[in-house]
This record gives sequence, structure tokens and C-alpha cells, in this order.
Amino acid sequence: MKRLSGMVRLEGNIHIPSYPDDSRPARPGPGSASPAVFLDRDGVIVEEVGNVTHPGQLCVLPHVPEAVARLQERYLVIVATNQAAVGMGLITEAGLLEVHREMAGRLYSRGAFLDGICYCPHRPGAALAAYDVQCGCRKPQPGMLVTAAARWGVDMSRSFMVGDRQGDMDAARAAGVRGIRVGASPAKQHRGVLSAPDLAGAADIILSTTGGMPEKGAG
Ligand SMILES: [Mg+2]
Ligand SMILES: [Zn+2]
Repeated sequence: MKRLSGMVRLEGNIHIPSYPDDSRPARPGPGSASPAVFLDRDGVIVEEVGNVTHPGQLCVLPHVPEAVARLQERYLVIVATNQAAVGMGLITEAGLLEVHREMAGRLYSRGAFLDGICYCPHRPGAALAAYDVQCGCRKPQPGMLVTAAARWGVDMSRSFMVGDRQGDMDAARAAGVRGIRVGASPAKQHRGVLSAPDLAGAADIILSTTGGMPEKGAG
């Protein structure tokens, strides 16, 4: 089975998977403004099971690897996830890196790559004082998207955020990207927000727009 080369943590609470082969679609060069699809983690990529504190709890949702593989042909694919479990002392940041290594590894084994995973470990009132802060990165704040945009040179006007909660949609709006809500009943949808049953459906919407990077072989 294909395995990740590794996973590193960068300043700003970003995990970057490294991949051993050159099967990956071409990534945009430095300085180019690229469109991105930001993905919430729990309820979008993996099953929502409350606080994930161990890699063994991860359950990748149906059709997700295929959807990510399609998206990465034309978009940066960047995860943005609230992980207050860290601040609550339920998992360490080292443990969270292992969870993300496992998640990225499972996606990679099925042909799907991630450009990065941004996480917010904070929560006001968190049990661990270091994380008990009113940060700018916990969704519905847009900080993770803004930080990622600076790091990867994202063109927000051509970008999307896929999430299963209103907070994801609020973060999308605040960051200036289009939100697509998955998994919620239509009655709960707010007007003006796109919706899809799951990530595969969201990918259909995104790839039907013309905002992505040129496909290989195109003009
Ligand atoms: Mg979620
Ligand atoms: Zn935060």
C-alpha cells in the first residue's frame, strides 16, 4: 500500500503531509494566486464522532478520496478544522499530528492528496490555560483561511469552503470565499448558501464553475 513520507508541523498550526512519489497533480508555483477548496474535517472528510482523540477513531466518509482527487486537479485542497479537544486536554498537539498523518495516509492510499491541514486548538474557557484564548482562528472566525491564503497565495474570489456547520459558512463569508454546506437538511439552510449532500456533491458544484486552475493540457 502507498504510504505517506511523513507529516510536519509548521508555525501557525499547520500540518503538511509529504508524499513519496510524483503521482501528484502539478501544484501552482510560488507567487501565483491560486484558487483553493477549504474543507472542514469532521462531518465532511471523516465521520462526525465527537472528539477524535486517537487515529483509530477516524472513519473516512464514502466517496471522499475520489472527491478530493478530483478537486486537487484544479484547486489547492486545504483542511481547516476546529480542534478544541486539544485545549480541553483530550489530545495533545503531537497526538493530533498522528491523527492527521493517519487521515492523510488513508486518503493518499486511495489517490487523494492534501496541500495542508490547518487546525485551531483553542477555545475560550479551555481546561489548559495555554489554549484558553479568544483567538482569531476558531471558526466562525476566518483566521485559518486567512493564514492559509497568505501561505499558499490563495485567490479567495475563486475559492470555496465546504463544511457541515453554520460556523463553517460564517468563516467562509468572513474570508470572502463561497460556502457549500453538506449534510444538513434543506430546512436548516440559510438562503444564499449552496448545499450538497456530501463532499462528492460539493465537488460537482465546484468543478462545474470555471474558477479553478487550468486542467492539464488545457490552453
Ligand atoms: Mg464539521
Ligand atoms: Zn484558534
